[in-house]
Amino acid sequence: MKTIHTVADMQGLRRELSGNIGLVPTMGFLHKGHISLAKRARAENDLVIATIFVNPTQFGPNEDLAAYPRDLPRDLSLLENAGVDFVFVPTPDELYPPGFQTWVELDDLPQRLEGAHRPGHFRGVATIVTKLFNLTRPTRAYFGQKDAQQAVVIRRFTRDLNFDIDIVICPTVREPDGLAMSSRNIYLNPKERQAATVLFRALSTAQAAFSDGERDADRLRTMMQGILATEPLARPDYVSLADAETLAELSGQIEGRALASMAVRVGPARLIDNMILN
Ligand code: AMP
Repeated sequence: MKTIHTVADMQGLRRELSGNIGLVPTMGFLHKGHISLAKRARAENDLVIATIFVNPTQFGPNEDLAAYPRDLPRDLSLLENAGVDFVFVPTPDELYPPGFQTWVELDDLPQRLEGAHRPGHFRGVATIVTKLFNLTRPTRAYFGQKDAQQAVVIRRFTRDLNFDIDIVICPTVREPDGLAMSSRNIYLNPKERQAATVLFRALSTAQAAFSDGERDADRLRTMMQGILATEPLARPDYVSLADAETLAELSGQIEGRALASMAVRVGPARLIDNMILN
């Protein structure tokens, strides 16, 4: 496995590569969720490029950019074991040099859900992912369903900007008790870690009710809020039942698929999770 640090080296390397390329963008501090993406990319492509970059432009001023956990040596050995060929690990200055002023912005999708609570977040995500697409020119790019709105945003701008890239969304990998794996779970103390299972319990309850025929969006949302309210350490930012494509909030009868999602603060962590009700 080869590690690349600069834009010039990444461009130089890419000129030499041929065959199908799978791209796996990450912010590092890797867990089994990330590794599931790398393994899927490994199985489906001739070459796999992973990236590790804590993208400053997708963090708000009061968010956890400085505290975001990092462990590069461990990440590199996990990626090597997953069969990754190249890892791109740029510095912020390398990707955002002085004078940088070009952004990728979407009109409506970022007004919803996470975007409504994290102004500028999806502008940062869309811009960095576009840059990584241009630098690595992959055949396929792999992302997790864990970040449901991110997946919708990336699919949308890939189509809108005519990137000839297959966007592959992989299932959320969970701990045995249901907690979605996340680099941010490291922020939780043992009591908070226990409390954090409430997100999965709320989503599972909505999914079970949906399977039993419940189609009233407001009742499903209230059901999830009720479960979250049983956990004193959980402070919800939002609880949503939305259209899985437009992300518009639903009320009344659900036709077809719906995205149940939430952001919940537990101790110092802000956790997100979701399930598609189908
Ligand atoms: P991050 O490092 O948090 O930016 O995540 C990098 C990629 O891994 C994104 O596409 C995430 O959606 C995906 N990912 C994060 N956590 C999980 C998980 N628990 N299961 C599957 N994919 C995940």
